[in-house]
Amino acid sequence: MIQVEHLIKMYGDLTVLRDVNAEIKKGEVISIIGPSGTGKSTFLRCLNLLDAPTDGSIYIDGQDILSAKANVPLLRRKMGMVFQNFNLFEHLSVMGNLTIGPIKLLGRSREVAKARARELLKIVGLAEKENAFPSELSGGQKQRIAIARCLSMEPEIILFDEPTSALDPTMVSEVLSVIRRLAKEGMTMAIVTHEMKFAHDVSSRIFYMDQGVIYEEGTPHEIFTAPRKNLTRTFINRIRSFHFHIANANYDLYALNAEVENFGEKHIFTPSRRNAVLLLVEEVLQLCFSIGDEAIANTGGVDLNLSYSENTDVVEVMLESHASIESVMTRHEPDDGLSKSIIAGLCASTEEIVEAGRRKLTLKLKN
Ligand code: ADP
Ligand code: MG
Repeated sequence: MIQVEHLIKMYGDLTVLRDVNAEIKKGEVISIIGPSGTGKSTFLRCLNLLDAPTDGSIYIDGQDILSAKANVPLLRRKMGMVFQNFNLFEHLSVMGNLTIGPIKLLGRSREVAKARARELLKIVGLAEKENAFPSELSGGQKQRIAIARCLSMEPEIILFDEPTSALDPTMVSEVLSVIRRLAKEGMTMAIVTHEMKFAHDVSSRIFYMDQGVIYEEGTPHEIFTAPRKNLTRTFINRIRSFHFHIANANYDLYALNAEVENFGEKHIFTPSRRNAVLLLVEEVLQLCFSIGDEAIANTGGVDLNLSYSENTDVVEVMLESHASIESVMTRHEPDDGLSKSIIAGLCASTEEIVEAGRRKLTLKLKN
C-alpha cells in the first residue's frame, strides 16, 4: 500500500532522514519507536506530504506521490493523521468537528455526515458528547474525538504521532483501547509511540528509527526480546528500566511511588505484583535511611533502578550506593525486624557486588 524508497529529508544543513526505506501493507499496524529527535515525526509528515521530502520516492497504491502529476489532495485524504495535541477545531462542537470535512471535502450531505458522525462517536465511546465543545472535554476524550474526526474522512491508513504523550497517565488507556479496536477491525496504521507494551501487543511490525534510517525492523518479538543490533538493544534496555535517585530520608515518597506504579503499568503487572514492588522499594529505603544510620545518606544516597525482563518474567530492584546496603540489611537492630522479614518474604534472592567502588545490591522479586 505504501512503499518508501531512499527517502531523504534535510532542514537546511541538517539531514534528518538519511535513507529511509519501508513498506507498509494493507491491514498492517506498524509502531515506530526510537529516541526523540531521530525523525519519527518528520517521517510521518513526509508520508502525508505535510513536509516536502528532499529526495526519494513514496508510492501509495502504486502512484508516485512526489511526481508533479500526483493528485496531492486526493492522496492526502487517503491518509488520516492524529497528532499529540489533538488539533480539534475549538470553535466547533464535536458534531461540527466530525462533519465539516465530509461535507466540505467529500461532498456528503449534512444528514449523511451527521449519521456517520453518530456511528463514529459510538465507536470511540462518546455518543453522548455530540453537542459538547472541545474545551468541555478531557484530554482523553479530545483525542478520541480527534480519532473519530480522522475516521470521518474515510482514510485508508491512519498515521498517529504520539497520540497519548500529551495525556494524563489516567487517560492513556482509553485512547489506546480505541486504537486497539481499530487494529482489530483491520485498519492500516502507523503509530509513533512510547507505549512499548501497547506497541508490542498491537503491532504486526515495529520500526526502530535511529541515525536517520529505519535502523532495525521486525516483529514485536524480534525487536523487544531479541533485537539484533546494538542501538536497538540499548534503547530497549533503557526503556525497560527505571531510575530514581534518593539523597536522604526526606525523599519524595509520593513521587517515587507514582513512578514505581507507572513502571508497573507500562509492563502490565498484576495488582499484586505492583504492590509487591511498591512494598519492597519502600521497605528497603526505610532500612537504608532508618533513623540513626547516616552511612548511606552521608555518602551521597542511593540510586534505585527497577528492571523487568519479559524473557524471564523477573522484576529486579537494584540499589547502588557508596555504602554497603547489604550490611544495613543484615545488621541487628531491634526496630528493623519487620522490614527485614517483609523483604525476605518478597525476594527470591539478594546479592551485593562491588563495582568501581560502588556497591550494587540486586533484589529479585519472587513471582
Ligand atoms: P522525533 O519525532 O523522532 O522526536 P522529529 O522528526 O520531530 O524527531 O525531529 C527530528 C530532527 O529534525 C530534530 O533534530 C528536529 O530539531 C529537526 N526538525 C524537525 N522539524 C524541523 C523543522 N521544521 N525545521 C528544522 N528542523 C526540524
Ligand atoms: Mg516526534
